[in-house]
Amino acid sequence: MRKKIVAGNWKMNLDYQEGLSLLSEIVNMVKDEVIGNQQVIICSPFIHLHAIASLAKEVDNVSIGAQNIYQEESGAYTGEISAKQILSTGAKYVILGHSERRAYFGESDELLAKKVDVSLKNNLTPIFCIGETKEEREAGDYFNIIKSQLQKGVFHLSSEDFSKVIIAYEPVWAIGTGLTASPEQAQEVHAFIRKEIEEYYNAVIADNTSILYGGSCNPKNAPDLFSQADIDGGLIGGASLKSRDFTDIIKVFN
Ligand code: PGA
Repeated sequence: MRKKIVAGNWKMNLDYQEGLSLLSEIVNMVKDEVIGNQQVIICSPFIHLHAIASLAKEVDNVSIGAQNIYQEESGAYTGEISAKQILSTGAKYVILGHSERRAYFGESDELLAKKVDVSLKNNLTPIFCIGETKEEREAGDYFNIIKSQLQKGVFHLSSEDFSKVIIAYEPVWAIGTGLTASPEQAQEVHAFIRKEIEEYYNAVIADNTSILYGGSCNPKNAPDLFSQADIDGGLIGGASLKSRDFTDIIKVFN
């Protein structure tokens, strides 16, 4: 059975102390309120990684991730951070292909494929984000966009490597806008993604791949979204910055 996952994306929020406090609150709530087998992943700014990875060791199902890496392994790249450096903090995951990186930092599918490769080579698990813009959805073009993002970003991987990847479907029009995809809209795309994985790899790999939904997910809408057959959890932005909201989303799987 594929894993149920609730991942938080703190984006460029929280100073060092605020990040530590939030992570401590989440760890305590998860400890006190007993959650099931769902995996919790917190993707923080680089500055928090080492400290919060140490705090997260207290609970089995909480892990830490970064939000970006550089595509080369090491060298003269002033200001950049490598996959190996992230791993050495105790973090195990990295968000790649987030629409904010694609839009504001010009990250292309080709660049993202390199980042996926370097993360896997260094035992960092990618949470690979895909999703269409508002214009692309309105033009009815979203299946083609998503197919192309999968083909160029991750479908070059061997079956063994692809099996390690987590996919996040995040319609760009739903991110940070308060406009959530309806459970039916999200399920339609998740089922499509799983079908594409089956065509490129096989039914077993497709069945085992966790596909998360992201975009204005909150404690109110998470139950309906997460009850869809092909939605295996969420990638949570805004609501991951409040410990109560985030743990309420985690508990949807209890
Ligand atoms: P949001 O962000 O939950 O604030 O919409 C989700 C994301 O960008 O990963």
